[in-house]
Amino acid sequence: MIQLTGFFKSNYSTINDLQFYFDGFETECSSTEFYSIQLTGFFKSNYSTINDLQFYFDGFETECSNTGYRSECKDNQKLLNATADHDDFIAKLTSIRTSRNTAFIDDLIKKYASIVGNAITGPLPCGRRRVGVRPNNMLPLSKGRLVLRSANPDDHPKLITNYLDNEHDAKVLLQGVRIAQRIMLSESLKKYDVQLVFMTSPSCAGYTKDSDDYWLCIIRQFTLAENHPTGTCKMGPASDPEAVVDDQLLVHGVENVRVADASVFPTQLNCNPISVVIMTAEKCAQMVLDKNKV
Ligand SMILES: Cc1cc2nc3c(=O)[nH]c(=O)nc-3n(C[C@H](O)[C@H](O)[C@H](O)COP(=O)(O)OP(=O)(O)OC[C@H]3O[C@@H](n4cnc5c(N)ncnc54)[C@H](O)[C@@H]3O)c2cc1C
Repeated sequence: MIQLTGFFKSNYSTINDLQFYFDGFETECSSTEFYSIQLTGFFKSNYSTINDLQFYFDGFETECSNTGYRSECKDNQKLLNATADHDDFIAKLTSIRTSRNTAFIDDLIKKYASIVGNAITGPLPCGRRRVGVRPNNMLPLSKGRLVLRSANPDDHPKLITNYLDNEHDAKVLLQGVRIAQRIMLSESLKKYDVQLVFMTSPSCAGYTKDSDDYWLCIIRQFTLAENHPTGTCKMGPASDPEAVVDDQLLVHGVENVRVADASVFPTQLNCNPISVVIMTAEKCAQMVLDKNKV
């Protein structure tokens, strides 16, 4: 998922602002659906016969409201100077995703809130609000692995993500970027006076701005994972060396142990997964009931 940003000359308050007002919801336990009014849309890249790109359009975010909302843009120069912290920020942002320590996250947000926008998009124009457009490659070809760290069952497993390992995945995201640009500059959005804001990174400075190579570089710098991992416990026949459970969700070679969650999907879904997770759980419950019928 690569995050792009545009600015709208507009001043609507959304539930997104409310979320930040209710300080404390911005933790790992928060719900994204309360967190933002999030629109989504599906597209097909040239590399696929079915929809493989999902776009998330994040709600208006205040950048300089003078009302106490986050990211208030009082001092543009301060934001400019913050670019030096960019690499540190990205490293910390990545660790937010895995940390369970909310105090750490709170500190981090306080420390870095003022530079978030700048690190990703360059200095933020005052008097405007931001909308994020995030193309998400739903059918990546890169494959990760989940392996045991040790023989100790209390040790967390090792997650080897291998994001963008296959060049195809970056190319799909590049198409996503181009589609997002077309949407944001489309006739219908003209009345909002949208300005595209280019993401920058010192590592991509050598590329011509807005060229394909520039975006492929940016994609490698800024792509984050969407929250839809699946397939670490694949369903398949016993003859498949990668399969963990059979079509009854029973673990191969182990009696009476079933797995019913997103891990059993043999391939990545090209949609939000929760309905399929719930369906899997209900199907599993029915199979257990059927097996134990007297
Ligand atoms: C921030 C976020 C936003 C999302 N938004 C959407 C969305 O809008 N739409 C959508 O369709 N999907 C969304 N998803 C994805 C969706 O929530 C997941 O795909 C889905 O919850 C996966 O279900 P699961 O049962 O596989 O795993 P989980 O829901 O993660 O359930 C795993 C459970 O196992 C428990 N557990 C872990 N370890 C142990 C242990 N050792 N012993 C006992 N219990 C344990 C955990 O506490 C947890 O309750 C979102 C995910 C995230 C993180």
